[in-house]
Amino acid sequence: DPALILDGIVKTYRGGIAGPVEVLRGASLELARGEVVALVAPSGAGKSTLLHIAGLLDTADQGQVVIDGLDMTRMGDAARTAARRQQVGFIYQFHHLLPEFTAAENIVLPQLANGVPRAEAQARAQALLDKVGLSPRGGHRPAQLSGGEQQRVAFCRAMANQPQILLADEPTGNLDPGTSDQVFGVLMDLVRATGLSALIATHNLDLAARMDRVLRLDAGRIATG
Ligand code: ADP
Ligand code: ADP
Repeated sequence: DPALILDGIVKTYRGGIAGPVEVLRGASLELARGEVVALVAPSGAGKSTLLHIAGLLDTADQGQVVIDGLDMTRMGDAARTAARRQQVGFIYQFHHLLPEFTAAENIVLPQLANGVPRAEAQARAQALLDKVGLSPRGGHRPAQLSGGEQQRVAFCRAMANQPQILLADEPTGNLDPGTSDQVFGVLMDLVRATGLSALIATHNLDLAARMDRVLRLDAGRIATG
């Protein structure tokens, strides 16, 4: 089975004063195991909407989301929430780390919520921090870290529950170009080391070219190249 299948996803936002916004009009894609795919489109094209649907954070009006051979659109809410916690890692443009907790605690907490014993959760957090070159920083709070370091901690948090797929929405979009380039390299190394499948939305064509394949979102559908 592919890691992720999106088949014929349709999504319209209703209720706006300007009338309904048809964002996705039959978007389909497949992500093979271990594949890292770029999703490229201008702002407003629907990248975040597609990632949220793929990540089970939002539901489509039509179409199927299949993760690891399981049709998520046929599941009830509780099963879908459990599947999201176990199967999907999410990275945003802004780190969304909890400011009152340390870097290590930010990586431990989602594991505890998922039933991982504390000692194992702490060991995983340390191993992940080590992989992104931040093992001496586990005891620091987000405000004590640079922007690039904060994003590296957010990568670790997304990987903490050992998901099947990683969805990233402009993961280095708030960093200056040099830092973005370097931090993106860290993300790619981490994804390759874990054999994860990843769908990564970006405006940055240089970053897109470093992935296995590039998909464009155009008029609510997916095109290749
Ligand atoms: P992208 O990530 O490519 O910038 P988005 O998925 O965020 O695109 O948004 C796609 C379109 O849907 C935009 O026109 C946006 O204004 C609209 N949109 C996004 N979320 C909502 C919402 N909750 N209600 C109404 N319109 C929305
Ligand atoms: P950048 O130019 O990348 O934003 P900063 O000037 O924010 O970097 O920080 C440089 C280094 O100092 C980073 O490694 C950051 O983690 C560290 N640092 C910044 N503020 C603090 C702090 N209050 N406590 C501990 N380390 C800090």
